[in-house]
Amino acid sequence: MTSMQEVLEIQRKSYLNEGFVPAEVRIDRLQRAISLLQDHGSRLIEAMAEDFGHRSHHQSRSTDINGSIAPLKHAVKHVRSWMKTERRPLQFPLRLLGGRAEVRYQPVGVVGCISPWNFPVNLTFTPLAGILAAGNRAMIKPSELTPLTSELMKDLIEEAFAQEEIAVFTGGPEVGAEFSGLPFDHLLFTGATSIGRIIMKAAAENLVPVTLELGGKSPVIVSGSADMALTADNVMSGKTMNAGQICLAPDYAMLPETRLDEFVDAARAAVTRMYPTLKDNPDYTTIISDRHYDRLRAYLDDARAKGAEIVELNPAGEDFSQQQHRRIPPTLILDPTDDMTVMQDEIFGPILPIRRYQRIDEPISYINAHPRPLGLYYFGEDTNERERVLTHTTSGGVTLNDVIMHVAMEDLPFGGIGASGMGAYHGFDGFRQFSHARSIYTQSRRISKIMARMRPPYSRQ
Ligand code: NAD
Repeated sequence: MTSMQEVLEIQRKSYLNEGFVPAEVRIDRLQRAISLLQDHGSRLIEAMAEDFGHRSHHQSRSTDINGSIAPLKHAVKHVRSWMKTERRPLQFPLRLLGGRAEVRYQPVGVVGCISPWNFPVNLTFTPLAGILAAGNRAMIKPSELTPLTSELMKDLIEEAFAQEEIAVFTGGPEVGAEFSGLPFDHLLFTGATSIGRIIMKAAAENLVPVTLELGGKSPVIVSGSADMALTADNVMSGKTMNAGQICLAPDYAMLPETRLDEFVDAARAAVTRMYPTLKDNPDYTTIISDRHYDRLRAYLDDARAKGAEIVELNPAGEDFSQQQHRRIPPTLILDPTDDMTVMQDEIFGPILPIRRYQRIDEPISYINAHPRPLGLYYFGEDTNERERVLTHTTSGGVTLNDVIMHVAMEDLPFGGIGASGMGAYHGFDGFRQFSHARSIYTQSRRISKIMARMRPPYSRQ
């Protein structure tokens, strides 16, 4: 078997031999990725369901298959215009004297991509849209927590692509550690903030530039002016999709204290509408592993022990103590305190802690006193208040009057800030993230002659 280091060398050599990568070649690679997903989507959906225990097929089709095809198609449509050389202005009067400035977007070379388990196909193929559109080669290390999906992606990619175009390496943290130590031209990591720190250290050894797509606690601020039924529908839909195992899931909510009961009732109604039963409901996804299941149950036990009110949204009153898979009913934690573990870690499951506030500055201060989140959500119609929230907080991105949706907009950069990550991709921003913006200045004879008069010996002037 060829080692990772050898594959990197093969890819780099092939990239160097290729030189300029024409649009047709980039489009052909993107199209092959699209065909792979179109032809084998159902097999990938089956594999994800088995890896999770149970995962809604409908959801997998939408988030991982169609959700990956869309950015790849977007890249096919726009890559010719993204690739265009950009003329840039020059300081007066250099242009008039024949100078010329331009930026050419070059492939960086070989991009390493480490992906997580929660959207295993999406978070492998969506980056490929930008990586391939930019004319690069890719080496991928998918997650060990979705072994069937990762192996299947490896087989399918090996069928559709030559090793010097894209190569996949499966395995756990040891393989990830070796992978992240390779001298790539760029390394994209999607995963936990704690692992992001390790990745950045490993990349620093070779001065490999990184894009870190990490997690965190994305807050929801519900305004006094919000439509509560709509708010609860959208928040609970985001909290229950993939059983809340989403980097952008609304992590916790902050509500005006006078409207808390209204939200709890509306959340119960929303969950009852979406999931009249939960235990064997094919639409409700399971928790990925025993470790994560135990972690989530421990948050609930800890919060209960420390005095929070726990509201389980279990419409059919089912008993979850004995079950085939690892399902946790959507659960609200009212009035959590900061000493509870659920307010310290990224939850990554169907649990929603809810804090109360009296004035809008309280949630703003709370957010600013914690690591910068990946997403921030505001529900309400008060434009002044909304602007106050937007101008007085920072997060990777924002969705107003819904959750998560900004990630699905092809022309919005997606990424974090601070502890939630660095760098961004998707659409044109992805193309640029994986390209080298090379500055080229062309000197003119006239300017050269003028400059010659300004050269030493200065005593002459
Ligand atoms: P993780 O960090 O545990 O694993 C991600 C990948 O890193 C896996 O492929 C894993 O094998 C590899 N890895 C683990 N230890 C490593 C090491 N020491 N060296 C090198 N590689 C190593 O994350 P996860 O549990 O798979 O995913 C959940 C996390 O990912 C959450 O924090 C979530 O918020 C985040 N996430 C972020 C985004 C985003 O786009 N910002 C998207 C999805 C998930």
